[in-house]
Amino acid sequence: CGIVGYAGNHDAKEILLHGLEKLEYRGYDSAGIAVATGEGVQVFKEKGRIAVLRDHVDAAVETTVGIGHTRWATHGVPSKLNAHPHQSTTERFTLVHNGVIENYEGVKREYLPHVTFKSDTDTEVIVQLIEKLVKDGLGVEEAFRKALSTLKGSYAIALLDNHDSDTIYVGKNKSPLLIGVGEGFNVVASDAMAMIAQTNQYVELMDQEIVVLTRDAYQIKTLDGTNVSRAPYTAELDA
Ligand code: GLU
Repeated sequence: CGIVGYAGNHDAKEILLHGLEKLEYRGYDSAGIAVATGEGVQVFKEKGRIAVLRDHVDAAVETTVGIGHTRWATHGVPSKLNAHPHQSTTERFTLVHNGVIENYEGVKREYLPHVTFKSDTDTEVIVQLIEKLVKDGLGVEEAFRKALSTLKGSYAIALLDNHDSDTIYVGKNKSPLLIGVGEGFNVVASDAMAMIAQTNQYVELMDQEIVVLTRDAYQIKTLDGTNVSRAPYTAELDA
């Protein structure tokens, strides 16, 4: 399983699909992408091979920002419904996740008793919790940090907000995730291999760090909001 993300100036669909193909060796049962368009975020997801997903992605959609995912099901059968990305009830937030949320049932009971869940995944609690915290009045970044502080388990996460289609929110705990740095674009990947065609400059993330990423900038923070600065390294891989 794996995650990719891209914010830049080129066709995000193709870069995400290519990135997911590079992560196929890690194993998966379904795949999906979410892309920011003029009319909000659009999701494409399918059970099975990335070639199947590729056939279903609308080639006419114009987008330069998006996130992608290959799933290795842990909670909920492999299916289109349980494939990522997952969206919050209002569809404002769209999220991909690798890992396992150990306390998802408790989080559902305690914070989300009135939410109707659309999938059988542990993952959906994350995106629903973020939406609930934003409805309660928190800013999106604050809600993202607070949600991740509430969760127990492993995660590599990328999130899109319909109200701010230039930004990708990234989080990590006990699952690998890297930021790739470019000129006029930035990327996210579980493995530098996925995005080596774009850049060979990567920044490693530590557990319980988040990143707010756009095409021009990225800021790493701890879950309590403290800024972190870390220099990129050069990945020695062939594109
Ligand atoms: N636990 C999540 C699910 O079953 C994510 C699995 C993964 O790492 O792909 O949907």
